[in-house]
Amino acid sequence: MPSNRLKKQDKAVYAALQGEEKRQRIGLEMIASENYVSQAVLEALGTVFTNKYSEGYPGKRYYGGQEYTDVIETLSIERAKKLFGAEHANVQPLSGAMANIAAYAALLEPGDTILGMDLSHGGHLTHGHPVTFMSKVFRFVRYKTEADGTIDYRKLEALAMKEKPKLLLAGFSSYTRQLDYEKFAKIGKKVGAITMMDMAHIAGLVAAKALPSPVPHFDVVTLTTHKSLRGPRGGMILCRKPFAAAIDKAVFPGIQGGPHMNIIAAKAVAFGEALRPEFRRYGKQVLKNAKALEKFFRAKKALVLFGGTENHMLMLDTVASYGLSGKEAEARLDAVGITVNKNMIPDDPRGPMDPSGIRVGVPALTTRGMKEAEVKKIAEIMQAALAGAGSKQELLKLQKEVARLCKKFPINH
Ligand SMILES: *Cc1c(COP(=O)(O)O)cnc(C)c1O
Repeated sequence: MPSNRLKKQDKAVYAALQGEEKRQRIGLEMIASENYVSQAVLEALGTVFTNKYSEGYPGKRYYGGQEYTDVIETLSIERAKKLFGAEHANVQPLSGAMANIAAYAALLEPGDTILGMDLSHGGHLTHGHPVTFMSKVFRFVRYKTEADGTIDYRKLEALAMKEKPKLLLAGFSSYTRQLDYEKFAKIGKKVGAITMMDMAHIAGLVAAKALPSPVPHFDVVTLTTHKSLRGPRGGMILCRKPFAAAIDKAVFPGIQGGPHMNIIAAKAVAFGEALRPEFRRYGKQVLKNAKALEKFFRAKKALVLFGGTENHMLMLDTVASYGLSGKEAEARLDAVGITVNKNMIPDDPRGPMDPSGIRVGVPALTTRGMKEAEVKKIAEIMQAALAGAGSKQELLKLQKEVARLCKKFPINH
């Protein structure tokens, strides 16, 4: 809850904050990368740790007055290591993008080759999309998924043998199947590449032990803390001991300035929550909810991409399923209070601003306590919104159903 001080002092900011609180309360968040943090995480974010400069690392800072920041960063690191069974953790990356850039900077020289997943097949912008600055610094080569949604590891191995990447990169933001980590590790070893997994999307499911962990198989693992992991907006790098010094040096002073210690405090709180048994139940429920969504849309003969889901999200081809572009489908769902994002499908013939599909995720609604029965209800509303004529009246009726459901499942953890 915003304090009285803000309300009195800055009406414009306060009004927007109130609007956003209401938007989150009465709508269904189904953007696969979003979630609701706990009240404790929110409180840690709004603390005086934001006042402090702490360049460096615990015990090795550039400024004085670090007795408490050292406690906080050490706690955050130790909890992260325990949560993921990692040999080393750097909790300073300001975001997932910065974590990836720092990892590239730690492991590579400009001009080196990185073999990563194609964006339209599920990869992320930071994995070398031509619009990024990193694509000018490194030579990115891409692998793709097969028509059935799997990765052909023999093809990947052949590509790796041909391209000789210095870094073999796994990870995705819209791929819905489980990767074979052992095969990535084996290919990396065979071609002499360092291996890196960007588990931004699934970090919470890995922490909850609902999905296998990439940490034992990869040299370096990057992640975001604000997606399924349900922490504050930020990034993190886990790695094996031999890479630790290079990773730390690349984050600071290589790429970043002073760490955001209020966010590092909130990360510590979120990791503490993720270490509890409730979080394991949460992770399992996320998988069940995604499966329930898949089952519904399959029964409706909608085109679920990649052959289904093994994580927290689904990709739907809305052009093939409903005759709607991704942008139109997103707008229809927005009108009923369900937030999703338009998304490219593999080798999408349409452009990124109006692609052929949508990505739909369940981490946030699972945080509200919704289970398979509610997911089915939501899927029915989505189906009605997408398959119907889309009249204003019809959408308004559906929006009321969404609001009713949200009221029964408040955001209050
Ligand atoms: C979200 C995401 C990122 C970027 O995280 P930001 O915090 O938005 O910078 C990087 N990689 C993957 C795979 C992601 O899903």
